[in-house]
Amino acid sequence: MAKYDMSPIEVPPVETKYRSIKTPLPVPESLPMFESLANSEPQAMAGMPPMVWQSARGFSVEDPFGNRWIDWSSGVLVTNAGHGHPKIKAALLEQIESDLLASYVFVHKKRAELTGALQKLGPRPDSDKVFLLSTGSEATECCIKLARTYGLNKHGAHKKIFVSFNNAFHGRTMGAQLAGGLPGLKTWMGPDLDLNFVQAPFPDGYKNPDTSFELFLSSLAEQGVEPNEICGVMSESYQGGGPDFLPVEYAKQLQDFCRRHDALLIMDEVQSGFGRTGKMFCYELYGMEPDLVACGKGISSSLPLSAVIGRKDVMDLYPPGSMTSTHSASPLCVAAALASLEAIQDEGLVENAAELEKLLMPALYDLQQKHPRRIGAVTGKGLVAGLQMVHPGGKEPDPKTALAINLACFHKGLLMFAPVGPGGECVKIAPPLCITEEALTESIEVLREAVEEVLGA
Ligand code: PLP
Repeated sequence: MAKYDMSPIEVPPVETKYRSIKTPLPVPESLPMFESLANSEPQAMAGMPPMVWQSARGFSVEDPFGNRWIDWSSGVLVTNAGHGHPKIKAALLEQIESDLLASYVFVHKKRAELTGALQKLGPRPDSDKVFLLSTGSEATECCIKLARTYGLNKHGAHKKIFVSFNNAFHGRTMGAQLAGGLPGLKTWMGPDLDLNFVQAPFPDGYKNPDTSFELFLSSLAEQGVEPNEICGVMSESYQGGGPDFLPVEYAKQLQDFCRRHDALLIMDEVQSGFGRTGKMFCYELYGMEPDLVACGKGISSSLPLSAVIGRKDVMDLYPPGSMTSTHSASPLCVAAALASLEAIQDEGLVENAAELEKLLMPALYDLQQKHPRRIGAVTGKGLVAGLQMVHPGGKEPDPKTALAINLACFHKGLLMFAPVGPGGECVKIAPPLCITEEALTESIEVLREAVEEVLGA
């Protein structure tokens, strides 16, 4: 995890239409807050650029000291409709005024509206069912449980292998981490991992240049897995650390494989859903029809809500009362999600993401052309992109350089979360989908300056 120096440094002042940096960073007056948190919280909660969020609107974030950043984080790919969207605020206020703040799984009207709206967006608009939960990890855990149950019920005890991909991230709970593909996140589970969870290489084309589907098959065979033992295959629609996408042909072969062996095809859209890639769901880029879709983050652009959208026969595997969560369909979260969906659709934000890709990606390729030995890969779709920084001339991840670029942007009024990726090498770009062409152009220029400061012109 990235470590930011907490000694305030003087940075050149910035004053534009969208950015304002007036103080040393971190702001000296903010240090007592960081110290208090260091005393009261696990250190694992530290690790973001050292500033205090006071308010956030649209694609701007402000601190209490008069500084303002263009946001390239969307929180962590949450605020797709924009921070503090007026429609979401109004819906929340109305919900508060209505005196219904918690309802467990007793029915309320907006729950029906939301499940109906999500059903229409999913792979089978007339027949899918929608299960509301609170976090992305809960949604991926639920997909794992449904796949295991489906295999067991329909085919018997042998059909229990759950396949996912190297470098995958599906959340921090135990099932999600068993399905994850980052070995460093699994050490706490000890050496005897559940052998029913296996991973195949992810065909990103850069970290793993072999994008053939034969590699998927041979890797399973090497791990002693027979296709008829597989109950489900789960992949992020793009892996967050790149972002890394599936080749379309590979995705098609994966879907055919799942159909042939009656394994559930599960796409984790927690990060990629709700317009991020210029499609409502990223799996649409591949022409896929997943059996289950895990959603979260951008579903509400604000409050904690997640969902599984999926095939009716699978979603109905459990009898009434046995697949619930205390905060399933929590009224405030549901109101926020309905308003966010409306904002994304009415304001054409999916289309905006697709359109602005045409501005963002060429600028990033141009940067890579200037620094081909240090920017190993540039990938992106819609309004998610990344620069994968490497040591000169090779492919070895260079987290220090990624952090230096991230920090230089921070000092200039462009905010990103800490670098991501298997080696912390990825400078990740993910603005709210409401960002304008003018603000995106300005922020790309800031990135360009930061890269040149760190790597030389
Ligand atoms: N799946 C993906 C692809 C994610 O990116 C994340 C979070 O980053 C999760 C699942 C877990 O979501 P949550 O943190 O809401 O549990």
